[in-house]
Amino acid sequence: MRDGAPSTPDPQYRWTPGADPSTPAEIDRFFHSPAIERLKELMCDIGRRLWQREFVDGNGGNLTIRVGDDLALCTPTGNSKGFMTPDMMCLVDLQGRQVAGARVRTSEILTHLGVMKRQPDAKACCHAHPPTATGFAVAGVAPERFLTPEAEVFLGEVGLAEYRSPGSAANGRSVGSAAARHLCVLMRNHGVMTRGKHLEIAYWRMENVEALCRTWLAARAALPQGDLPRITGDEARRLQELYERVSADG
Ligand SMILES: [Zn+2]
Repeated sequence: MRDGAPSTPDPQYRWTPGADPSTPAEIDRFFHSPAIERLKELMCDIGRRLWQREFVDGNGGNLTIRVGDDLALCTPTGNSKGFMTPDMMCLVDLQGRQVAGARVRTSEILTHLGVMKRQPDAKACCHAHPPTATGFAVAGVAPERFLTPEAEVFLGEVGLAEYRSPGSAANGRSVGSAAARHLCVLMRNHGVMTRGKHLEIAYWRMENVEALCRTWLAARAALPQGDLPRITGDEARRLQELYERVSADG
């Protein structure tokens, strides 16, 4: 990694508080506005990247972007994330009720909204089932700390959420509670949820956690016995400071 403060792009969607579209005509105009159409394209792009990296299989995984006080864009149910088109995207309110879009919204919307309600910094969420990190989630084991600088700065401590039925309100509460304190949450016996101020950043965190878990497996294969060497002392404190700046920025 480079020295100094990490820099990230800032294409975050900003809405005017108290000015969500409300009539059917306003919602339709908003849903097809150039800014929202660009976000739909981004969701297709991130979905392709999830599928190409084998972080999702079948119709698994889902993406959301908050676009209002009470509005979020989301991916549809029943589609491979690798082959979505912008016209498939849906608009929901923060109760999960669909307000626009020809397809049916993802069945896991309440989990994303549970995160957004508990953590206002969560402007976008990415949920996937990357096999190695999901293996840690199945084992109920959070990755060890201070093994690599990237993981410390961009993930910090990875959270663990109890298993609840996928798509249930209880799952939203379970994952939302963990995501209030963590940028990345392993959902036990299920998969991974990451959040960010922007969808690409949430997606990067999915790459980060999968890489961390794969690195741990390789380290354990290379050194099967005893503790793995860790970053300690002032070097660890410096990483912690950088993490605090990254997480405060969303
Ligand atoms: Zn899932």
